[in-house]
Amino acid sequence: MTALPLTLQRGACPALSAPMMTGDGLLARISLIEAISPEQLADICLLALKHGNGMVDISARGNLQVRGLSEISAPRLDADARAMNLPLREGLTVEVPPLAGMDDSEIADPRPLAEAIRDASRGITGLAPKMAVVVDGGGLLRLSDLLADIRLIAVGKHDWKLLLGGTEQSTHVFNVLRETLVVDTVIDLLKRLASLGNKARGRDLAHRLAVNEAAPHTPPSSSGLSRGSASVATVDPSQMLGTSPSMTAGKVAASPFDLFSLSNHLHAIGIGPAFGQAKAEHLIALCNEAVRLGIKSLKPALDHSLLFFGTEIACRELRDFADSNGFIISANDPRGHIAACSGSPACNSATIATHEIAAAAAAECADLLDGSFKLHVTGCPKGCAHPQPAALTLCGTANHVSLIAQGKAADEPFAFSSFADTNATLRRLADLVRSERRPSENSAACLARIGSDRLEAAATGRP
Ligand code: SF4
Repeated sequence: MTALPLTLQRGACPALSAPMMTGDGLLARISLIEAISPEQLADICLLALKHGNGMVDISARGNLQVRGLSEISAPRLDADARAMNLPLREGLTVEVPPLAGMDDSEIADPRPLAEAIRDASRGITGLAPKMAVVVDGGGLLRLSDLLADIRLIAVGKHDWKLLLGGTEQSTHVFNVLRETLVVDTVIDLLKRLASLGNKARGRDLAHRLAVNEAAPHTPPSSSGLSRGSASVATVDPSQMLGTSPSMTAGKVAASPFDLFSLSNHLHAIGIGPAFGQAKAEHLIALCNEAVRLGIKSLKPALDHSLLFFGTEIACRELRDFADSNGFIISANDPRGHIAACSGSPACNSATIATHEIAAAAAAECADLLDGSFKLHVTGCPKGCAHPQPAALTLCGTANHVSLIAQGKAADEPFAFSSFADTNATLRRLADLVRSERRPSENSAACLARIGSDRLEAAATGRP
């Protein structure tokens, strides 16, 4: 048997040819750079039934994930998926918003830059496995909340803001560049990251550049890079614009669970399985209905969504079908505001049934889940479903459920709950937020203001 290049370490990407071990077997990721047809997605689901346990994820970044593979079946899935001639992403992760090139409100089409960066980065080795570049042209759907080592945001038809590390909110501005300088600058940064080792991420580079900048007597680096300056050795500084806080795309990230009017009379409808995971049979039924309605293409997209492209009538009819079959079709669906990992019984590491808890939370605490934050429900402290800090996290541990505020799953809890009392504890927290929320204050702001002591008192029922 051919040895399988298992990718077991945390922080690695479970790509199609290098699946990752999870609690329910190997998980293989199918990352696409173009739209596929509903028939192709149905075929991928058939492969998930044939080779895996029939569960298919759509990740927060819009990747398809096939679960429950074995060391024997994973290479077969790899071979069968490659035989489908899918537009698979190979090499560095360079992502653009799912409506790129079809969206009249875009400031600039990010696809040519993304392709040029993908091509130019092919020879660079030694980057962190999860290294990601985001090229965001503005428009109706943004990638602002996705973590990116290097992020480019259009601020003019030919001008791009470059940020290092984190989400768009938490990131560090490096510079604003003319389009002609972008590829060389990004490649320069990637080479510099590679030279720092395969654990180095964009935030580390931002930190190093900031330290260099704060130490005027430090000799310049060999590449000449410095944060916020125009001193990139490989480019002409006279073409750089300098950082300007007013030059932002100026758009608020929208939910994919909506109907979008695009260029050339095309429409898109965003549909998603609850908690990012569906049985293959349910996705096949959705794809069959899309085919019946004349829908020819779709993209797995951010926030665990599928965007189907077609006429307005076809999109509306598919939305009705999806609604009556339990899919998320609206940004107001509280299930869309919960990040829940597979949990028990699917994952051996899990100590709680995350999807059951999340479904009850969506039904009982809808007013808490107002879209201002993601409630993180995780089966263990690894926190697969939400690597970023969350305003509120329920984390299964060996003996109980930890409650964490403003942190990651492994951070210090403010309280604990017994397994059986988890949803009742959450309801007490939701009641506190409801009674404390000020006019026009959202749940995230209210939770942050209330603070850990009062949250702990409410969680434990202490007066
Ligand atoms: S976070 Fe969830 S899916 Fe990930 S290992 Fe833990 S229990 Fe399993």
